[in-house]
Amino acid sequence: MVNMYYDNDADLSVLKDRKIAVLGYGSQGHAHALNLRDSGMNLCVGLRPGDPFTEQAEGDGMDVKTISEACAWSEVIMILVPDQHQRTVYENEIAPNLQSGDTLAFAHGFNIHYDQIVPPEDVNVMMIAPKGPGHLVRRTFQNGTGVPCLIAVYQDPSGQTRDLALAWAKGIGGTRAGVIETTFKDETETDLFGEQAVLCGGSAELIKAGFETLTEAGYPPELAYFECLHELKLIVDLYYEGGLSRMNYSVSDTAEYGGMSRGSRIITDQTRAEMKKILKEVQNGDFAREWIEENSKGQPVMEKLRSEVKAHPIEKVGVELRRMMDWLTGGAEAKQSA
Ligand code: NAD
Ligand code: MG
Repeated sequence: MVNMYYDNDADLSVLKDRKIAVLGYGSQGHAHALNLRDSGMNLCVGLRPGDPFTEQAEGDGMDVKTISEACAWSEVIMILVPDQHQRTVYENEIAPNLQSGDTLAFAHGFNIHYDQIVPPEDVNVMMIAPKGPGHLVRRTFQNGTGVPCLIAVYQDPSGQTRDLALAWAKGIGGTRAGVIETTFKDETETDLFGEQAVLCGGSAELIKAGFETLTEAGYPPELAYFECLHELKLIVDLYYEGGLSRMNYSVSDTAEYGGMSRGSRIITDQTRAEMKKILKEVQNGDFAREWIEENSKGQPVMEKLRSEVKAHPIEKVGVELRRMMDWLTGGAEAKQSA
């Protein structure tokens, strides 16, 4: 069983005594910075020159510094720039400004777990990873609740790093919902596996395969879009609210029986064997090496794969059909809640 922590297990005062830098003001950055400030913490925001979020951060009343200045000023540094840029930012701007006893914080374990960032031994290293996008972290906080978080301690020369991680989780609202303690290894490996096999990779291929099966059999792409993509949201909402049973309870008996009796013909032993291979590549570092190399080459494979997705017929019919759904037209809001 995992350790769970709530508001009463966390003490904000350990964090209140320290100067904090939040690096980046994107999805996670703005939410951590605003929630911590509302929790009474003393913080600045570190942004590279010309960061597109500078105006927003200044408009929110944040004390915006360069990343180097922010790191020199602060004792607790949360790195909320994209994972693939963290190593360069660390080497050029964070490391030269780290002092013995400082604390480095992450919202995802990739760079520490795969040794892309190797902090000095006298620096504390922790993780606070909200299990939701930043805009939800901010919105729930303002509503008096929060998003569940994972916390982890990687190195702890001060002996206070778990208390600091809990305080951070409390400051952003996480302990209102519940905080689970894990390790950098488990968080990183389960996160990568989940997005590859189920959330992003698995679901996108399932949608495309269903759409192609129907359209190749001569059914209109509009119907195929509704059945294989659009309605997935209704089903996922039911999983989210009450698990697999809630979904089965809510759909028709015909859908429940058809799904239960046929689903295992879609996810076969071969699929499960492939899932195990994908997990191995995550565990042995093959995926991490591939992704780091891809970034060092300027993401050529990524670009090719992205253009293949954009060219898929389901994307063309989707653009037309979503015009019928006026509640979807707020592009920015749709992106925020993604
Ligand atoms: P983001 O892309 O939304 O924001 C990144 C910020 O860094 C922005 O201010 C951006 O302008 C800046 N930035 C971009 N490139 C930079 C560079 N080369 N140098 C310096 N600054 C740069 O990022 P995010 O989604 O908030 O992710 C931040 C961290 O949070 C990552 O470690 C990610 O894994 C983690 N995380 C994200 C989510 C999520 O839902 N988005 C959830 C949990 C954890
Ligand atoms: Mg994730």
